[in-house]
Amino acid sequence: MDRVQATDIVGVELGSRSYEVRIGAGLLARAGAEIAGLLHRPRVAIVTDAAVAPLHLAALKEGLGDIASTEIVLPVGEGTKGWEQLSTTVEWLIEQKIERRDLIVALGGGVIGDLAGFAAAILRRGTRFVQIPTTLLAQVDSSVGGKTGINSAHGKNLIGAFHQPSLVLADIGLLDSLPERHFLSGYGEVVKYGLLGDPAFFDWLEANGPALAAGDRGLRQRAVRRSVEMKAGIVERDETEAGERALLNLGHTFCHALEKATSYGDRLLHGEGVAIGCALAFELSSRLGYCSQEEPSRVRAHLKAMGMKTDLADIPGDLPDADGLLALMAQDKKVIDGRLRFVLAQGIGDAFVAEKVDPAKVRALLADALKGR
Ligand code: NAD
Repeated sequence: MDRVQATDIVGVELGSRSYEVRIGAGLLARAGAEIAGLLHRPRVAIVTDAAVAPLHLAALKEGLGDIASTEIVLPVGEGTKGWEQLSTTVEWLIEQKIERRDLIVALGGGVIGDLAGFAAAILRRGTRFVQIPTTLLAQVDSSVGGKTGINSAHGKNLIGAFHQPSLVLADIGLLDSLPERHFLSGYGEVVKYGLLGDPAFFDWLEANGPALAAGDRGLRQRAVRRSVEMKAGIVERDETEAGERALLNLGHTFCHALEKATSYGDRLLHGEGVAIGCALAFELSSRLGYCSQEEPSRVRAHLKAMGMKTDLADIPGDLPDADGLLALMAQDKKVIDGRLRFVLAQGIGDAFVAEKVDPAKVRALLADALKGR
């Protein structure tokens, strides 16, 4: 039996846009009490998807108690994060007479959080919203920090706005229904926090990762809390990614190229790409002399021990060659003035942004990594 653990609260301090991230089991069942203080009238609009709704919508509505709710259930998957469902959602919110002072509730993973957050940002020039993230990825990453948006035909997340939520309720119990593959994908982002800035957290994950993945709620809560603390700290210091927030993109330059190469489909989930990208970023750091060869080996060993995708060989199907992948990286929106920017590391827990990485070194790394396939 899991020990009953008190709710953790992590503050995101952004002046008038400050909010709390509450993390614990059972938050959905008392959602009404958790959000009551934010309401001007007892009514909310819920945005969710067709996989989450049958599992958790009834419990949320029950948890809202006397607060009336209306909901829209969107299709599942990344394809939902586009103009069509955004327009459907915003028009529905207007039909439902959701006013500026009302509250929108996003119940779902990163897709629903990003879309509902963006709908909230543009509805009546800005309506408040609450995130109830239901995937590990959304609990540790996408629900915190205020990046909202949709994809364009030209690429991912190219349309959006910074719009901070008014509250985040990360109910650890919701992760019980998450398929293992999606749990491990979210774990890729958890590992990223250790790798970018907290070596003791990475040590802790090496020791506790397997039990956490097996379902221990107490360990899950600690991992989510530490991840959220790190993200909150970075967002507080650099809300709009003028500098330090770029560290959160560790592994992402590789990841975005791989996601594009696999058409954002089921062959590679985002967090899987982040994990492979982190392993490649550490390998590149070692080849460029920033850290010892033991560091990438240790990163890969942990990902493998967790049963996660670690190498390009773990991605099913064809991939472009090294030049093809490099060309995809050059299209990344993190590219500034045509220069390839990477988050590299001087060791586990010590990442930095490198502005001028020699493309020939990256090409050689990718060519070697592709040989393993
Ligand atoms: P997702 O929202 O597609 O959820 C993954 C799958 O799990 C979906 O099929 C969903 O229906 C299902 N699901 C969700 N919760 C469940 C539960 N509790 N039980 C069973 N099934 C459940 O994907 P995701 O991985 O959560 O998020 C990926 C998205 O997040 C991407 O679009 C990415 O761009 C975005 N993202 C945004 C940020 C940000 O800062 N805004 C950061 C990282 C990622």
